[in-house]
Amino acid sequence: MNIKSSVLGLIINLFLSICVYGQDEVAIKYASMITVQDLERHLNYLASDELEGRDTGEKGQKLAAAYLRDFYSEIGLEGPVNGGYFQQFELVSTLWTEVELSIGKKKLIENEDFIFMGDGDMKKREKAELVFLGLVSDEHLENIDIKDKLVGIWAIGNRSGALVDKVMEAGALGAVVVTMEGQANFDRMANRFKALSGRGRLGFEKPTTQRPVFMVSSEKMGEIFDTPVEELKEAAKNDPSVIPSQNITYKIDKHIERVETENVLAFLEGTDKKEEVLVISSHYDHVGINSQGEINNGADDDGSGTVTVMEIAEAFAQAAEDGHRPRRSILFLNVTGEEKGLLGSEYYADNPIFPLENTVNNLNIDMVGRIGYEYEDAENQDYIYVIGSEMLSSHLKIISEYNNITYTNLILDYTYDAEDDPNRFYYRSDHYNFAKHNIPVIFYFNGVHDDYHQPTDTVDKIEFELMQKRAKLIFHTAWDLANREERTPVDGENTRLER
Ligand SMILES: [Zn+2]
Repeated sequence: MNIKSSVLGLIINLFLSICVYGQDEVAIKYASMITVQDLERHLNYLASDELEGRDTGEKGQKLAAAYLRDFYSEIGLEGPVNGGYFQQFELVSTLWTEVELSIGKKKLIENEDFIFMGDGDMKKREKAELVFLGLVSDEHLENIDIKDKLVGIWAIGNRSGALVDKVMEAGALGAVVVTMEGQANFDRMANRFKALSGRGRLGFEKPTTQRPVFMVSSEKMGEIFDTPVEELKEAAKNDPSVIPSQNITYKIDKHIERVETENVLAFLEGTDKKEEVLVISSHYDHVGINSQGEINNGADDDGSGTVTVMEIAEAFAQAAEDGHRPRRSILFLNVTGEEKGLLGSEYYADNPIFPLENTVNNLNIDMVGRIGYEYEDAENQDYIYVIGSEMLSSHLKIISEYNNITYTNLILDYTYDAEDDPNRFYYRSDHYNFAKHNIPVIFYFNGVHDDYHQPTDTVDKIEFELMQKRAKLIFHTAWDLANREERTPVDGENTRLER
């Protein structure tokens, strides 16, 4: 084993740098350019009402993009997309208008009696037979022809998606699914859908799949077949020859609108290792205005990460101007579409401006301005959750710890690194689109609080001094990663590839 790239070698190296060199005075000088005043000034604009919650593709997101572009240009960073700062791409906003479902002659009401979950686009009303198969056993599928029928599925306690896939593969037209017990639970969900109706769902354009899937309450499923629910379940379980069936009519109209949006990129070229690129990212979009007309300002999510990236960029730009250019190049990447499913980072990873093989690390910053639930009453609140640092490289966590001990002395909390973390944060921000391509990442995160995705996520609640400390930790870690002799080796196993 090459001692240079071994973990022991790294530790010896870092130990020597503490004893012999101490702190890097140059790095400290530029870290001090990250100020509370600047963080606050930028955030006051980005999280202001004028930006209307920076909804993907909307006016506020565009204003934020322009603000970022002007800032990067002013501090002297290059636009790496054919000389520009915007990596523009197209999304589609999909709205299923006029979804109809009738049982016999009785018309059901959308977002009251049923929720539409699938896809489809039809010229006219279709008639079909709906058969109830409950848990969909293999015996069912052997004995019953479900071709061109809709299938009633009882998915409580099972993955409804898997059961729907199963009947679709066997030739079904679509499905009517029960996923939860109790009318009240269903009503709550239906209300959420009602609040969002009229708003398109953003994503990359995909061909329409004719796959109507309707969700109903357990009570409604009983009504549809005019049978008590318990009886219905028993019938489907015990005797595949007695399958309740019903005639239905349905129609789905789909409406698509094209939406332009953009990632904002700024580039600082390195010196002797300039082919290698460190990516420092955050998302600058947020969830816009809610159905009550209130603005979700997104000061913490992810205004905090956006201004942190800006301040780190400014510190590096000033250092470069003074003759302390990093050895590796750095890409400051402000992505769009995160809130709609990590779309901007997915687009970047699929259409990288710099080859992914040469992309050494991604430091992703999403929510670093607040104190989350777990630390509300803690004596020491100088903490940050650090996620993913030991996944792909044996070196990254040690480097991160070293910089923290040397410069910032925060509590680095690894709680959410647990493989079985029920929150699945490892999959829930933009670093994931780098990690899935085997690029070692660190995700910096303050945890969740009451104002998460609420109109109350405002600037006045931001802990600017704590945010500044966190920004300095990320700066020093980035400085180290950009200047060290060896890039961090990818020697870990990528065991988390599923979302
Ligand atoms: Zn976020």
